[in-house]
Amino acid sequence: MEKKSKVTLKNTDKNAKKLLVFDDEPMVAKTISEVASREGFLTELTHNAVDFFLKLDSFRPDVIILDLIMPEMDGIEVLTKLEKMNCTSSIIISSGVDIKVLSAAAESARDLNLHIIGTLEKPFSFKKLSELLNESVNSTIKPARQSIPNQNSNITSGDLSAAINDPKQIKVVYQPKIFCRTGTLAGFEALARWHSPKFGIVNPYIFIQIAEQNDLIDELTKVIIGKSLDWLAGISTERVAELIDNHQLQNIKLSLNISAKSLGNTELFDWVYEYCKSKNIAPDRLVLELTESSAMQGDLTTSLNNLTRLRIRGFHLSIDDFGTGFSSMVQLVRLPFSEIKVDKSFVMESATSTESKKIVKSIVDLGISLGLNTTAEGVENQLTLDFLNSIGCELAQGYFISPPIYDFKIIDWFKNREVKREKARLISLHNTNLIGSEPEERFDRITRLAKRLFDTPIALITVLDESKQWFKSKQGFDLKYTSRTQAFCNKAIQSDSALIVHDATKDPKFSKNPLVLAELKIRFYAGQPLSLPDGNKIGTLCIIDNKPREFNTQEIKKLKQIAKLVEHELAIPTDLNSIDFQTGLLSRDIFRAHAEAAFKLCKSLNLSLVIFSIQISGLDDLNKTHGNEIGNKIFKDFAEILQNLSPNTDLVGRYRNSRILMQIISLDFLTISEMLNNLKEQRDLWLLNHPIEASVVRPRIGVCGRAPDDEETLEHFIEASFLHPM
Ligand code: C2E
Ligand code: CA
Ligand code: CA
Repeated sequence: MEKKSKVTLKNTDKNAKKLLVFDDEPMVAKTISEVASREGFLTELTHNAVDFFLKLDSFRPDVIILDLIMPEMDGIEVLTKLEKMNCTSSIIISSGVDIKVLSAAAESARDLNLHIIGTLEKPFSFKKLSELLNESVNSTIKPARQSIPNQNSNITSGDLSAAINDPKQIKVVYQPKIFCRTGTLAGFEALARWHSPKFGIVNPYIFIQIAEQNDLIDELTKVIIGKSLDWLAGISTERVAELIDNHQLQNIKLSLNISAKSLGNTELFDWVYEYCKSKNIAPDRLVLELTESSAMQGDLTTSLNNLTRLRIRGFHLSIDDFGTGFSSMVQLVRLPFSEIKVDKSFVMESATSTESKKIVKSIVDLGISLGLNTTAEGVENQLTLDFLNSIGCELAQGYFISPPIYDFKIIDWFKNREVKREKARLISLHNTNLIGSEPEERFDRITRLAKRLFDTPIALITVLDESKQWFKSKQGFDLKYTSRTQAFCNKAIQSDSALIVHDATKDPKFSKNPLVLAELKIRFYAGQPLSLPDGNKIGTLCIIDNKPREFNTQEIKKLKQIAKLVEHELAIPTDLNSIDFQTGLLSRDIFRAHAEAAFKLCKSLNLSLVIFSIQISGLDDLNKTHGNEIGNKIFKDFAEILQNLSPNTDLVGRYRNSRILMQIISLDFLTISEMLNNLKEQRDLWLLNHPIEASVVRPRIGVCGRAPDDEETLEHFIEASFLHPM
């Protein structure tokens, strides 16, 4: 590329370009202005919005440098206003926010047809600023982006009004939303269709606009919401679940589009709430999608009140088309959104454009950091879906998964999809050695932990093949397998979240199950589905009680976290490298990986963690005089002692050259001290029985226990256990 020649203009030059700097930090504004003066610009600065718009009018700048985040009116609001004023100045956006967010903001401003030259990251480099200023002198205005073609321009509001009152003309189609990681159906978005006898099928972009411009939108919204809630109530019944032998449709969410114009309409939202009640649909199954611009139109206080009341009532709120419009981080934080929906234009391009990839990732990151659900729409191929999964985007929607479908086709679509998914699941499962195989300590330690933490008589890891439910790990339970039809877990794996059955005798899904009536007399069941790294589910981690039981959200979270330990195990290949060949213990790396996972679990659930260590000194001498075999045997002996120390033993493994560690999660002080005494006794007994070894090596015991705090790393914690050897 040809290097642009540097522009040298004099401030006095009547052709000098004019720069207006808008930044709430006076020092920053002044510095920018000085650099620009040196580049030959005439400059003005301002620190507040009112003054900015006054100067815009009087000074008529060629270039504007605008700070994205300011206290009273943020940069995006300013950009929106600039667009409304048809501003033709070149604009440089500056900010201290993450570069990705800055680019996403620039991209959305470009969509407003503003002439964005580039972004300036703060703290900024003089070089970058000079380059951008030069660019502003050399560049020409880019053509505006395409907007939606205005076909069907002879449609009148009377046509639409008549259609709204004719139940046959306005129809609703439903587009599925799935979880990126597992492919499980999460819900549908309802999209309006107008089947007009006069104009054919009219594009919603067109008739929604006509409705908005002619005060028909609330009426239209009611028709669409009414129809789609009727449909949702219909497919959520027990009858449908039994018919298709799948209860997942009872939990799916429905996303509805709400026009910006409707936000101030309190009566509309009260009506939606009442309609949900009458249809027995919990408000938390509905997601109301508002386009970015919606949030800022009309009477802000009423809109904000309406949105807040909707959230209080349990509805979810989604900010739609994020990245294209007018919103900003400030809006996101101020308004009670629970989901961010990345606009399809970025998602569709993300498979081929690195820029779009960056934007999608920046929006997903933003969503995650604000604790919002993230959805990407416009997923048109596997590559995009894989990318979204890799960046932690939760939900996906798009033609690759399915185009919008009419209501009468949905059950068939769902059944076919489930058949295909089950086939893929079984293939993936058969590639593991989980079915019918022997118990393994790496899983047993987790079920022991679950049983203890929840104080239940039974804890299991189940695996479901074509016809059976296998118990890969079991505590308080004897069967090797049951038939799949009886399995609670068969229902649990239909969803991605835990299945909780408080009292099986009162649940129509299970009250006639032989495991409830006879044999085990199951009353309470909580099962968290377990996935392989490819997202296919193998079965569950579940706890069972023969008494009915409550299970609160904190406990659901705990179960989910413990299930993550199992998934962690499933993700680590069980090849020969996982075992230390000299001693048969977990190898160092593998032990570390598991210990790290447990450490994180304790942090997130605020559980205490204790580490017991045995350090064997003098080994080198022993190996020299008696050979390595004898040294290895010492490790084996002590690993066995640790392993059999108590039913609460957790992970045991090798650490560094001469140490063995054991970790124990959330045990009371008394039990720990009993274990410690027991360990000392066993060590002394071992020394007595091994006089040759005892004359050379010294096995010393260490212990460290505390509630892990944020600063501490696993390394610190392990080292602390060696501080006072016994
Ligand atoms: P939207 O809310 O962003 O809806 C997503 C649009 O993207 C839908 O277009 C959908 O069919 C389309 N789409 C989904 N997946 C893909 C994909 O993979 N590739 C591509 N290229 N497109 C995909 P549709 O149904 O034509 O709706 C257009 C817009 O009309 C909607 O955009 C929404 O803003 C508005 N709209 C539709 N129904 C309603 C409604 O009931 N109320 C309101 N207020 N607006 C609605
Ligand atoms: Ca939408
Ligand atoms: Ca959208």
